[in-house]
Amino acid sequence: MSKFIEVKGDKLVRNFKNCPKCGDGFWMGEHSDRSTCGKCGYTDFKSKGKKRN
Ligand SMILES: [Zn+2]
Repeated sequence: MSKFIEVKGDKLVRNFKNCPKCGDGFWMGEHSDRSTCGKCGYTDFKSKGKKRN
């Protein structure tokens, strides 16, 4: 496995969400409209106002 993010200690600003699949320590990359886990590829789309169709 690549060392995508390996953080020990609390120096990192915890702005990122944890990947719900990979668990603690695996942060999700922030994009304008989504968050993506760099490890498993899990993507959490941000819904600014839910679409109603
Ligand atoms: Zn993941």
